[in-house]
Amino acid sequence: MNFEEICKIIFLKNKYLKSKDSKIHILCHSLHFSSSVFEGIRVYNKKPFFLEDHIERLFKSCDIMGLKLDLKKNQVTEICYEVVKKNKLNNGYIRPIVFRGAQSMAPDTKDCEVLLSVAAWKWDIFYKNPSLKLTLAKWKKPGPDVSPVAAKSSGSYQISTLAKNDAMKNGFDDVVMLDHKNYVAESSSCNIFWIKDNKVYTPTTRCSLAGITRKIVLNILKNKKIKFKVGNYRINELFDSDEVFLTGTASEIINVSQIDKRVFKKKKMTNFLKNEFDLLKK
Ligand code: PMP
Repeated sequence: MNFEEICKIIFLKNKYLKSKDSKIHILCHSLHFSSSVFEGIRVYNKKPFFLEDHIERLFKSCDIMGLKLDLKKNQVTEICYEVVKKNKLNNGYIRPIVFRGAQSMAPDTKDCEVLLSVAAWKWDIFYKNPSLKLTLAKWKKPGPDVSPVAAKSSGSYQISTLAKNDAMKNGFDDVVMLDHKNYVAESSSCNIFWIKDNKVYTPTTRCSLAGITRKIVLNILKNKKIKFKVGNYRINELFDSDEVFLTGTASEIINVSQIDKRVFKKKKMTNFLKNEFDLLKK
């Protein structure tokens, strides 16, 4: 992807700029110390999907990471709508990021300004394959006493990037990551669900992101009176299941056909949930 071409207009600091003019200093704190938090939001029919939830999570991430943004939730909401409009997007993706400027080259951030950028572009599909092949990652997700896991922060993606690159090098689409206690956590950028004997299972968010798509899926299950359980699960329970799928804003709901050598043939629940999810986009 060449974002200078794909993404036309960006909000940065306090104005809307052409993407190629949106410059930040090379010594900005967040580039060196990963001191930024961000969101990813889908746009369907010109409307940002579950925007309020994403704005809530962005501000929660800011709180956790001590980022004091000089803007209110409703102002960031308006900027998201405006960026969609200025880029003439019907369907696409919005990426707000809150980050620190170039006023400190030490971990401390006493003098650093806190900035917001919002970009948006047309982005149809995240995974090329309709069913994914996953592999178990060697990297483990940290616990909340090791890292601020409840924040959607840039720093927490280091192991996701390493794990996903390794997986792709070996012919897989993505990974299953365990947490530091060896419970199933999530993939590099999605929450994970599986089905065993018609009951749906998903890990807690102790060591994984509280996904907004995960919440939507859990609500559908509740409304449709489908049995589900949220808990701590070992990898053998995932391997022993009948069907697996991932959820995330960019990838929506996507079936998993394989985890290492274990093949999953069923897609019935995934397809049912995908249909229900599609109804919410209208
Ligand atoms: N886990 C991780 C690590 C993610 O990056 C994402 C994508 N934001 C998710 C889960 C899914 O979250 P959401 O449904 O809010 O996009």
